[in-house]
Amino acid sequence: MYKLAIFDGKPLFADELCVNRPTIGNRSTFLNRVEKMLDSRMFTNSGPLVRELESKLAEYLGVKHCIATCNGTMALQLIMKALNLTGEVIVPSFTFIATAHAVSWQGLKPIFCDVDIDTNNIDPVACERLINKNTTAILGVHLWGRACDIEKLQSLADKYNIKLIFDSAHAFGCSHKNKMIAGFGDAEAFSFHSTKAFHTFEGGAVTTNNSEIAQKIKRLRNFGFVDYDCVDGIGINGKMPEVCAAMGLTNLESFSSSLTNNKKIYDEYKKLIAGLKGLSLHTYDETEKNNYQYVVIDVDESAVGLSRDNFIEILHAENIKARKYFYPGCHNMQPYISNNDTNKLNLLNTRFLSHRLMVLPAGSSMTIAQVNKVGNILKSIIGQSKLIKSKLEALN
Ligand SMILES: *Cc1c(COP(=O)(O)O)cnc(C)c1O
Repeated sequence: MYKLAIFDGKPLFADELCVNRPTIGNRSTFLNRVEKMLDSRMFTNSGPLVRELESKLAEYLGVKHCIATCNGTMALQLIMKALNLTGEVIVPSFTFIATAHAVSWQGLKPIFCDVDIDTNNIDPVACERLINKNTTAILGVHLWGRACDIEKLQSLADKYNIKLIFDSAHAFGCSHKNKMIAGFGDAEAFSFHSTKAFHTFEGGAVTTNNSEIAQKIKRLRNFGFVDYDCVDGIGINGKMPEVCAAMGLTNLESFSSSLTNNKKIYDEYKKLIAGLKGLSLHTYDETEKNNYQYVVIDVDESAVGLSRDNFIEILHAENIKARKYFYPGCHNMQPYISNNDTNKLNLLNTRFLSHRLMVLPAGSSMTIAQVNKVGNILKSIIGQSKLIKSKLEALN
């Protein structure tokens, strides 16, 4: 049997395997763009590269407006500011902390909602129960690139006359009812952070079919400037630099091949995990587009004899940096956990999922050979789970 690194064996991988290593596209194309940019001395303030990226993204996503930003958190904040929200925003707790923080940073109050056990997205029934006279918006997250129940959420927004926003940070290149995610709700926010399926080093974008919201966001992104000497409100610096747009344009050119590669990696995991007792892979609707950036495993401790946390500990020692997304849930982090209302929350599915899910290294920078090595070690761990459990207990 393979000697595990946690018990003083040699790590399976000499270098860390991260959950999502960034793509770089065609290096020389990128460098050519940077050379031209340096010659032009045009580095920011909606230069030609940012404008080209915005128009190419809008075309790819089938949406009227795409406004590039310095990151995804800023994209969320700009949307909330543009919509003049005040009061409470309903958000899932099972998401990256930036979703909740963006709401709080705008002076709004995040109200945490439970998610659906199967899709991991905000549960519209639970959401409706949280709506009251202070509710100003619903902020859904298309987790793992799987679309929220958009129709139900939109009908709630219409019924209660509140706004509907989406955090689409996971969902670039994904579809809902065969329409690209980008034009749903009042506006959607993308993150183009390096760990995402499509990236611009750091970056993000707001997408919307609403021209009025788009114009407002363009102004807010640039300190509120309407004209050279005229500012019409409290804007911020939310601009994307040209060098980031150069990376984005280059990555966009190879995006379809990164999708193909992501799917190959995902399918290989699928084959390997199918034979492993106690582990199950999250699947995506094959009739929709997904970017297959997230290989999400459910660990059933009662079947395998080891907890999700045991797996994480063992895999980390092997330099496989699997992650506990999104443990322990936003409502269990500061400042939200200190809030009395939050303590009373009973987010059963969020709790369940945050103790069982594990995200494995995947994406376009993994090779099939690496996936096989990860699969083999998972198999070996499961094969000796009783022994491992007792040894782990002795260690701790
Ligand atoms: C990455 C991410 C963000 C934040 O995006 P940044 O570009 O890093 O600011 C927000 N929400 C979710 C769900 C994310 O995964």
